Amino acid sequence: MEKYDYSLMAPGPVNLHPEVRKILSEPMIHHRTPEFDHILAQTLKKMKSVFQTEEPVYLLTSTGSGGMEVLLVNTLSPGDQVLCLVSGKFGERWSQMAKTFGLIVDEIQIPWGQAANIDEVKTHLQKKSYAAVLTQACETSSAVLHPIQKLGELIQQFPKTLLLVDGITALGALPLPMDAWHIDGLVGGSQKAFMLPTGMSFVCFSKKAQGYFETSKIPKFYFDIRKEKKANESGETFFSSNVTLIKALNFVLDEILKKGLSQLFQENQRRSDFTFYLMSLLHLNSFSHSPSSSLTAIEMPAGIDGQKIRSDLEKDFNITIMGGQDQAKGKIIRIGHMGYIQDKELLQLAEGLYEVLTKHRCVFKIDKKTYLEKLKIWLEKN
Ligand SMILES: *Cc1c(COP(=O)(O)O)cnc(C)c1O
Repeated sequence: MEKYDYSLMAPGPVNLHPEVRKILSEPMIHHRTPEFDHILAQTLKKMKSVFQTEEPVYLLTSTGSGGMEVLLVNTLSPGDQVLCLVSGKFGERWSQMAKTFGLIVDEIQIPWGQAANIDEVKTHLQKKSYAAVLTQACETSSAVLHPIQKLGELIQQFPKTLLLVDGITALGALPLPMDAWHIDGLVGGSQKAFMLPTGMSFVCFSKKAQGYFETSKIPKFYFDIRKEKKANESGETFFSSNVTLIKALNFVLDEILKKGLSQLFQENQRRSDFTFYLMSLLHLNSFSHSPSSSLTAIEMPAGIDGQKIRSDLEKDFNITIMGGQDQAKGKIIRIGHMGYIQDKELLQLAEGLYEVLTKHRCVFKIDKKTYLEKLKIWLEKN
């Protein structure tokens, strides 16, 4: 068997661009230098294009969850009622986080694999006054994409309610224009669609959300965005800057903007389409009824343990994907489409899946040679 180069095709962290790997190994520079000031200014400006916003974007040295916290603690106060859409692991996390800060949380429980129902959200909003609605754009545990544009249109009709969106596996991977869709708080993460190592999150607030900075009473110090806003306005970060990752981010943003957002989104969509084609050849089904183009969750055939498929793919093929979490553990595998992925790696993944599933006694009508031929032709055509 051919020895494959290692490939990280999880829904975050993801494969790094070769140039990013080089930047990460450059000598450290100090953050209070003209050289870094220039990089920071450029990066902050370019980030606005990715968020598709006129408002300032903030760079945080924290993982994505820290960014989720920033959205809550800068706009809300203990005792505020919030409506949390819980459609998987990350919805559960945000709900718990909100409770930790003294928010009164009503949950809309959405079965794993399903997207939010706008009418149900509307009914809740008409019954009670909520300070915020919390939702994932893409719920990574089930690969579900939620109807954010529609939620934005709905929530816009409630002048006191904020739409706070965890876009960690969506922003930079698929269309999520902050201003046009009336999103009030949006967070992205470095190790997902931004193709960087773990360790940074990115947040932005609408004008409406910024209006709550002064009245929000949740205690905060490190995550008080007012300090960062002031520092950014004078060309600095408030705390020590994450120089290394910001340098790499600056490069990634250049690549993204050179390519254009629509082309970038199209590349993720193509990898998603490829995966769906592969599934159709093997008669495998999507777990998500509203699939996100940033990752695909494949249902395992009866009797097949997804955890074993995942670990054998890693052991035998040097490719890392993810299994399911909690109630989906063993039942699904999840393949990420974000990051630096070449066609060669898509074919390796396809071959690996065929082999590993066969090893676990899956029987396919299509033989491996025909299957790989069809996939190669698909890649050439699409
Ligand atoms: C990965 C992820 C997170 C958490 O990010 P961390 O960087 O691990 O804190 C939150 N929400 C979603 C939807 C994610 O995919």
